[in-house]
Amino acid sequence: MPVKFTELDLKPEILNALKKKGYADLTPIQEQTFPHVLAGKDLIALAQTGSGKTAACAIPVVQSVDPSLNEVQALILVPTRELALQYVDEISWIAAETGVRAFAVYGGFSMEIQKSKLAHGVQALVATPGRLIDLLYNSPLRLADVRYFVLDEADEMLNQGFLSDIEFVFSCMVHKHHTMLFSATMPDEIKRLSRHYLKDPVVIELNLEQKAPSSLSHWFVQIQPHHRFEKLLELIDAEKPAQAIFFCSSRNGCEKLYDHLKKKAKSVEQIHGGLDQNKRTSLFRRFKKLDIQYLVATDIASRGLDFSHTTHIFNYDLPHNPEAYTHRTGRTARMGREGKAITLVMSKDVRNLGSILRVNRIEPQWIGEKPDLAAAKKKKHADSGQSGQNRRSGRRNFRHRHPAKQKSE
Ligand code: AMP
Repeated sequence: MPVKFTELDLKPEILNALKKKGYADLTPIQEQTFPHVLAGKDLIALAQTGSGKTAACAIPVVQSVDPSLNEVQALILVPTRELALQYVDEISWIAAETGVRAFAVYGGFSMEIQKSKLAHGVQALVATPGRLIDLLYNSPLRLADVRYFVLDEADEMLNQGFLSDIEFVFSCMVHKHHTMLFSATMPDEIKRLSRHYLKDPVVIELNLEQKAPSSLSHWFVQIQPHHRFEKLLELIDAEKPAQAIFFCSSRNGCEKLYDHLKKKAKSVEQIHGGLDQNKRTSLFRRFKKLDIQYLVATDIASRGLDFSHTTHIFNYDLPHNPEAYTHRTGRTARMGREGKAITLVMSKDVRNLGSILRVNRIEPQWIGEKPDLAAAKKKKHADSGQSGQNRRSGRRNFRHRHPAKQKSE
């Protein structure tokens, strides 16, 4: 039997907000983390997005912040601006009747406006590491009253090169505080950080053996490069997605697909790193509210974001690596809802496809003819005339490329 929020000793204003939102039972991650967090223990949670981890962090934060103290009391570090906004939205509705004020700071947005908002008093601050440090150096922002420090997607922050920034933030918090660290994986650097900065943390592992939710089905379709767009239109026609994201691997590809698709469908927008932050924020919010049906996107839309209405993910370009596949397809089938991922595969993709299927333990379903992957792989090697040595180094590059670091976004 799942635990109900009403069984917890939460502020009545929070219980009211949860009831209005329709949250009755705790999700497994909430069930496992709340007792420790509310008891003031440090915590490491290995959990995927889509498990309810934003609220797992936001509810205890709102519970613990004192609305009468006009200082930052909870600090949440996240790798991207989009995640920062998602957190601030979540904290804001949970805190709506409590008087707790939340705000997000991130790069690409006026620092002066952020400074003036901070000067008016913010109690739960969500931040990307770089902008937080700029503000610590260049504004009166201080962290002396922070009692809750949350690092979300810690592995992704390290991938993006934020290790020294994170260590700097830890070093600013010499007073007593609790730390919650959420991460999808546990690389050595995170183990080291935890040993150094967390006090006797409780470690919670969720769903590690299950790479993707069972409500998500994985479909693949073999295509010829010159028929790619027609095939996509056919698939859209057959599937009639209530809401879909079409992932492309480059900004240029994203723009091209958007130009084609907007001639064929009514509600289409595109999102990539070349758009200014205000535009991106407004697009994410509109997509989340289902004001937009189809979103053509680069991997910028693939991490951590919660789009609960999205029924279909189309990989118009094959993701660069297995991890990117998981992040893209994780935008659908959230919280046990049904979702479908459809990946368009060209013959040049076979080797990367093999790796995506193997690492993510996916049993593919094929629309139309199923290619003979082993034969296609052999043929590709023969065609390219690569030596074994070259093939091995090619594989190394593939593994080391990370979507978050690619300029093409
Ligand atoms: P997240 O993993 O934080 O991105 O959350 C995934 C989705 O679960 C979001 O749509 C949340 O609004 C929703 N959610 C989180 N906690 C609960 C809950 N206890 N009951 C129902 N929905 C929830």
